[in-house]
Amino acid sequence: MFADMACQIEAARALTYQTCNLIDQSDPQKTYLSACCKLFATDVAMKVTTEALQIAGGYGYMTDFPFERMMRDAKITQIYEGTNQIQKIVIARELLR
Ligand SMILES: Cc1cc2nc3c(=O)[nH]c(=O)nc-3n(C[C@H](O)[C@H](O)[C@H](O)COP(=O)(O)OP(=O)(O)OC[C@H]3O[C@@H](n4cnc5c(N)ncnc54)[C@H](O)[C@@H]3O)c2cc1C
Repeated sequence: MFADMACQIEAARALTYQTCNLIDQSDPQKTYLSACCKLFATDVAMKVTTEALQIAGGYGYMTDFPFERMMRDAKITQIYEGTNQIQKIVIARELLR
């Protein structure tokens, strides 16, 4: 589980840095790439924090430890700034343009 979490975090980070680099170069695909980043990185955040809570067992669920707060913090990233369902619409629209 830790290996899967690490790989997904690295992939999300790489996509984000790559997109930032392309935006700096005024890449015409910036809308598409930004939506891909938002969708992928926030889904990774949700998955990784859920796994982290699971690994901690009952302690993970308790408010005495930071896991549940991290999971809630990850959840809101899937909702605000355009929900991930809307990001998928943006990505599909850019692909089919
Ligand atoms: C803590 C928090 C902070 C926020 N901060 C800000 C902020 O700083 N600035 C700001 O502007 N907004 C902010 N928001 C609002 C946030 O962007 C909205 O909650 C978000 O846009 C979703 O809108 P809604 O809540 O009206 O849900 P709705 O638009 O009613 O959507 C409900 C659900 O239906 C899905 N859905 C809607 N349309 C489609 C579709 N066509 N296809 C598939 N699924 C669809 C959505 O993905 C969502 O899961 C914040 C929200 C929260 C909870």
